[in-house]
Formats: sequence, structure tokens, C-alpha cells
Amino acid sequence: AKKKLGKLKKTPAISLDGIEITLLANIELPQDAQVAVDAGASGVGLFRSEFLFMGRTGVEHQLPSEEEQFAAYKQVVQVMKGKPVTIRTLDVGADKPLDHSEHNILNPALGLRAIRYCLKEPQIFRTQLRAILRASAFGTLHILIPMIAHAFEIEQSLAMIEQAKAELRNEAIAFDEDIQVGAMIEIPAAALSLPMFVKKLDFLSIGTNDLIQYTLAIDRADHEVAHLYNDTHPAILQLLHMTVSAAQKAEIPVAICGGMAGDIKLTRLLIGMGFRELSMPAALLPEIKQEILGTNIAELEPSIKKILRTYDPHSLQELLSSVRDQAF
Ligand code: PEP
Ligand code: MG
Repeated sequence: AKKKLGKLKKTPAISLDGIEITLLANIELPQDAQVAVDAGASGVGLFRSEFLFMGRTGVEHQLPSEEEQFAAYKQVVQVMKGKPVTIRTLDVGADKPLDHSEHNILNPALGLRAIRYCLKEPQIFRTQLRAILRASAFGTLHILIPMIAHAFEIEQSLAMIEQAKAELRNEAIAFDEDIQVGAMIEIPAAALSLPMFVKKLDFLSIGTNDLIQYTLAIDRADHEVAHLYNDTHPAILQLLHMTVSAAQKAEIPVAICGGMAGDIKLTRLLIGMGFRELSMPAALLPEIKQEILGTNIAELEPSIKKILRTYDPHSLQELLSSVRDQAF
């Protein structure tokens, strides 16, 4: 079976009724980009850039310089040879602490993490944005802003990107003038108020790991509440549906880059809901592709509509399994 999956590498992920799904890889370090290529990914849907900043030894608080970041981002776009690479800006805090001082934070998941941290530390953000923009001259880069909840966070981020562009222009350093900027939808407030954001954004990407954590009020790293981590809770399905609908209405692409995207039990549900881009660990790409190749998306539609109207847990589970088992 492994060999068969390997042969799928160059096959596009097209459903039985002719709909192409873009399958992308999540990466954490530059060297993962080659793994993504080898797995047949159409690009990098999520480069978790914080891994360049974490676990650094030596001088305390020593962060990667603009040159070091530039080299890392450039390496990834070059390995991807023109395929799109979405770099998520620094998402530290909570389960990804930058240094040990953060262990004293009252409630890390609800604290100063991701874009909140970057807007509080504009020098760190500026350095990263400059490095990303410089790397954008060498391929196709997109910027993804994590943990958005407020309109001003988008406005300030876009203003900082414009400022970094102006600096580079003055210094006669090349970058992609039309670099796309998107936001992660991973706080319920963002999913519930998408019209507040979409007009300013080129794309959306749903972080289901945090979306589930914040919607169900369960720490994603706390084993004591792991049994409550239900990715098909009706609240999650509604938020996913709202997000894909808002993106379609605004005519911007929407991806899923959280764990749900790589769960074969959910593939039909997600593509049936209208998602056309899924980003996951590279190792999962072949099996997800095979699932798509054996699915007729149009024929799923009636069941998906029913699922979105079903709140009884037992009936919902039955409908979800019937979608998974449906033969075409
Ligand atoms: C997510 O929250 O689903 C996500 C993709 O980001 P991370 O897991 O890095 O928080
Ligand atoms: Mg997240």
C-alpha cells in the first residue's frame, strides 16, 4: 500500500467529479521544505516561523537576525521553485514559549502571544517582515498573520508591512510588491466577525487547533481535558462553515492548516463544506490525496447540508460516518 501511495506523488488531487483540491505542507524548519517537495506538496501552506526563534541556546533573548531569517526564508522559497510558500509571522507564547520567563504568565493561551506579541515588540516584527519581503524576490511568498481577533491588528500589521516595503525601496532592495497578506482564523471572534477583516486580506487560513481550543475552552496541551477536544462539535462545524462562506463571498481563498486538514476521517466533510486548500504535515499528503481521488464532492452535498443543521450528537455522528463510508 505504501508503494501505491508513493506513486501518487505527481498525481493532482482531483475528485471524481473533477474538482481540484490544493494539498500543501506544514513545515517548521527550512530543511522540511525538501520533505514537502518529496511528498508532492503543491506548496507550503504553513511555515511555522517561530521554530527559528525557539530553543536557541547562548546569549539569553538572542533572536535570529534579519540576515539569518532572510537566509532561512530564501532557502524555503528556492527549494519550492516558484510554488507558493506561506510564512506565518512569529507565533510565540502559550504552548510555544520564547523564553522561560513566560512560564509565569497568568494564562499563556489568553496572553500576549502571536500578533499581540509582535505588535508589542515592533522591532522584532519589523526585522521579520524585512526578512520575509527580501526573500519574496526569490519565489512566491505569502505572509500569514496569526491570532487575529481585532480589526486594528490587521490594520497595524498591514501598516508595518507597508513601512518595511518603503524601507526596502529606499535601500534599493528587491521584494515582491504584490506579496499577499492573509490572516489565521483561529479565534472564534474572528470567525464570527469576518466581514470586519476580509476586505483587507488576500486570503484566510483556519488554525483548527487553536479554534477548537478557544471555542471549547480547553487547553490544547492539557491531557486532563483531551477527551473534550471534539473537532466535530457543532460549534466548530458552524465556525468552519461561516469562514468558508465569508471567504467565498469575498472571493478570497481560504485554507485549513490546523490538524483537521490532515485527518483522513474529516477530508470528505471539509471538501464537502467547500474547502479547496488543505495544509498538513507532509507525511499525511498521500493518504489525503487518495481519499480525494475516491470522492464525488457534489454527491456529498445533501449530507453536508444535513450535518450543518444537526445538533443531536448521536445523529451527527451517524451522518458523519455515512459521509466517510459513502461509496461512489
Ligand atoms: C492551529 O492553531 O491550528 C495552527 C495551525 O497553528 P498552531 O498549531 O501552530 O498554533
Ligand atoms: Mg494556532
